[in-house]
Amino acid sequence: CGIVGYIGNQQASSILVEGLQKLEYRGYDSAGLAIYNDGEIGVQKYKGRLKILEDHLEKNPMGGSLGIGHTRWATHGEPNDLNAHPHTTTDGHIAVVHNGIIENYGKLTEWLTEEGKVFKTQTDTEVIAHLVDYFYEGDLIQAVRRATGKMEGAYAIGVISKNEPEKLVAVRKDSPLVVGIGKEENFIASDIPALLKHTREVYFLDDGEMAILTEQSIEILNELGQEVVKEPYRVTWDV
Ligand code: GLU
Repeated sequence: CGIVGYIGNQQASSILVEGLQKLEYRGYDSAGLAIYNDGEIGVQKYKGRLKILEDHLEKNPMGGSLGIGHTRWATHGEPNDLNAHPHTTTDGHIAVVHNGIIENYGKLTEWLTEEGKVFKTQTDTEVIAHLVDYFYEGDLIQAVRRATGKMEGAYAIGVISKNEPEKLVAVRKDSPLVVGIGKEENFIASDIPALLKHTREVYFLDDGEMAILTEQSIEILNELGQEVVKEPYRVTWDV
């Protein structure tokens, strides 16, 4: 339901939680974060209000300056801790947040199970993590592109890999996603209010477009992998 993502040099955890707070108006049943720190991706995700996640983060703080966060409105799989996003691969090297529905997740899950992937949740979203993992050959951008090539339905996704901690990859189709342009930091969010504390300069992604964020840069590619040059949009209103 709500997506946020951060790459930069500040602590991601509080930025992501604050961003998710700004998206609470959309409604949700669970919330979670995945943050890269010291060679690993840590995940904390819980059913219930954001406050529950915040209380856990207070007891077990997550350091790191690259992360993705999500508030979930369950469509496939009951609301519980396990089904909350982010979702990870078995070895935990890739983490994914997703808004929308992957219509062909049943077929993809069957196929990837035959290929040896072990599914641990009841969501349609988990298949995205395993798909990216299946296609991963050392290049996250390529792997995400090949994965989205197999996905039917509506999605906005944010993806990170511990093998490539200098980037955050996002793609959207029929589900909203904006990129926030910062200074030595960049952001993604499913809606503008999550970004306004940090920036008013945004790029709107069009259907099928992928954004590749680093601390210093934002690159936008179309479905064919060609670079798209966009004008930043300046948000003049307040929430
Ligand atoms: N279909 C996904 C799920 O049920 C994502 C739902 C959402 O957009 O929050 O986990």
